[in-house]
Amino acid sequence: MDKVGETLERLREEGKLPRLIAFDLDYTLWSCYCEFQLPPFTPATKGAAAGENTGKGKQTMRHSGGPGADAFDKHGAGIRLYPDVRPIFQALLALQKELGGGGGKELALAVASRTPTPDHATQLLTTLGMLDSFQNHQIFPGSKITHFNRIRKQTRLAFEDMIFFDDERRNVKEVGAMGVTAVLVDNGLTCADFLRGTAEPTCRT
Ligand SMILES: [Mg+2]
Repeated sequence: MDKVGETLERLREEGKLPRLIAFDLDYTLWSCYCEFQLPPFTPATKGAAAGENTGKGKQTMRHSGGPGADAFDKHGAGIRLYPDVRPIFQALLALQKELGGGGGKELALAVASRTPTPDHATQLLTTLGMLDSFQNHQIFPGSKITHFNRIRKQTRLAFEDMIFFDDERRNVKEVGAMGVTAVLVDNGLTCADFLRGTAEPTCRT
């Protein structure tokens, strides 16, 4: 994990940080199609051990998501973030803070999801405490070309200054053809994927 922080720091020193990093959601950050998970979602209360006399603890025990779930849907189905996701975002948010001002002025984070249920995705991101980690949200069905055209319009950044992670080859192909450094994620976003994406920065100013 330190490696992600170290790499970001090095890129910063070399002036090679991307200006924006975008992420797909389903099977990139979490291991499900959120359209099949029914809200309302409940955060996993890992601190609430069995036997603790709290409402949250009782709720946790009743759910069947098993250990390691990060959230539960209406029916108690567990939803997990891939293990490297939290550490990667911790490193990114720490860097944003360090860059000063925060708010993604120097390094923005974005969501680019084509889920047919944007409300599920937004609610799940909120439950996971991640919605505010992104300065730009593009969550709607259709080609991701539209998502990235909107990102460019709203941020005024060049595609060449963006990196994108997605588990679907067609999205990576389409977005990569626009000039974005698009990285195919095989089995959920890992630190190795992240480092691969930042290893070969395209021309950045
Ligand atoms: Mg996906």
